[in-house]
Amino acid sequence: MRSGRYSAWRLLREGLSGHRGWGPAWRSPEPQRHYDVVIVGGGGHGLATAYYLARTHGVRRIAVLERGWIGGGNSGRNTTIIRSNYFWPESAALYDFALRQYEQLSRELNFNLMVSQRGLLMLAHTPHDVELGRRTFNAMRLNGIDAEWLDADRILSEVPSLQPSRFPILGGVMQRRAGIARHDAVVWGFARAADSFGVDILQGTEVTGFRTDATGRAVAVLTNRGEIGAGAIGLAVAGSSTQLADLAGFRLPVTSYALQAFVSEPLKPFLDTVLLSPATGCYVSQSDKGELVFGGALDLFPSFAQRGTPPILEQVVAGLLEMFPTLARVRLLRQWAGCVDVVHDSSPILGPTPVPGIAINCGWGTGGFKAIPAGGYLLAHQLATGQPHPMAVPFGLERFSTGRLIDEAAAAGIAH
Ligand SMILES: Cc1cc2nc3c(=O)[nH]c(=O)nc-3n(C[C@H](O)[C@H](O)[C@H](O)COP(=O)(O)OP(=O)(O)OC[C@H]3O[C@@H](n4cnc5c(N)ncnc54)[C@H](O)[C@@H]3O)c2cc1C
Repeated sequence: MRSGRYSAWRLLREGLSGHRGWGPAWRSPEPQRHYDVVIVGGGGHGLATAYYLARTHGVRRIAVLERGWIGGGNSGRNTTIIRSNYFWPESAALYDFALRQYEQLSRELNFNLMVSQRGLLMLAHTPHDVELGRRTFNAMRLNGIDAEWLDADRILSEVPSLQPSRFPILGGVMQRRAGIARHDAVVWGFARAADSFGVDILQGTEVTGFRTDATGRAVAVLTNRGEIGAGAIGLAVAGSSTQLADLAGFRLPVTSYALQAFVSEPLKPFLDTVLLSPATGCYVSQSDKGELVFGGALDLFPSFAQRGTPPILEQVVAGLLEMFPTLARVRLLRQWAGCVDVVHDSSPILGPTPVPGIAINCGWGTGGFKAIPAGGYLLAHQLATGQPHPMAVPFGLERFSTGRLIDEAAAAGIAH
């Protein structure tokens, strides 16, 4: 039995009948021998790819292979920020497409993603920050993205809890349409919607190799549950991208790092926007439960581990206290890390790979949660049509040989 459509009427009916009618949100099927499309990676990007393949392109025999549990990677470990305040037109088009999707996805997926457009304010603490901030603000406006330049007085009236000490506030760029969305809900919403189209979500299924035919085309994946044939294969495995590429026989300009997130004990509401302070190396928002959700830089050395190291913890907490010294006695409740896929120009890699039959979606680094609807939509287009979507063309792997990079290091300067 599937979960059926969620609605207030359904909730009332189930409430009156002891809640016995709710089915699981997705099935746990046995793998079939062959699928039209196999997607490796049950994070947000993999599941969104499956959903758009089924919904937009009518592909029916689809499997998502996840070695652990869906959302157990970065998609369930991030700090949930969504925004489109990027510099280059290519990035603005991509990330704003994703943000526009987020604005209506809860209704489309019939699943509450808890999207809260509470705004994101990037603070400028030095004349250099002001120059960069104004440059970003101008670029955003030229790209048709909402942006406001706020002076210091305005910032302190909008966020009265800020108590700048060693880092004076000189201004900041506000994107009011930015905000947060519940990360698990995004994963579960796409999984449930994909399942409703018949997509097989195979958890506990690890890809350990690929089989190619005589022409060199990948035609099957090898897994711990046996070989699964595939008309086309999509990779959306974030920090494991280089390992999967190794198995398939090609190289990627990706380096994996641990990125940490921190959560404080719950506090009374005092922060109703997302704050990002590149100079202190910290960004923070307050969850609906009152906890502060914050983070900062990557760990200092490459790693495939999903745990972080104390020096970054210390640096990020110090950054938070620069902005809010009165939080010094607040206790840290939880800390964790994910393994992110970092690329030289801080932009994703989307499109075909050197191995025919395999397409990829990776390189989102510290900022791919906000892009899940776009990444899934574009990988689905590639897998269904064999061609990159026009929006994905600039993000192809060949840019690392042509040198036509899309440098978004400033927009991705600290993790978010
Ligand atoms: C601490 C932290 C904070 C972040 N904050 C933000 C933020 O605020 N905003 C934002 O936009 N982004 C943020 N990000 C980045 C964002 O989370 C990621 O870019 C995004 O979730 C990547 O999604 P994905 O689906 O590509 O990868 P993942 O969610 O990592 O999914 C990949 C999946 O592939 C699976 N897999 C790997 N190898 C195999 C295999 N061999 N076989 C089968 N399955 C395999 C993994 O188990 C994993 O579940 C943050 C990341 C971290 C770690």
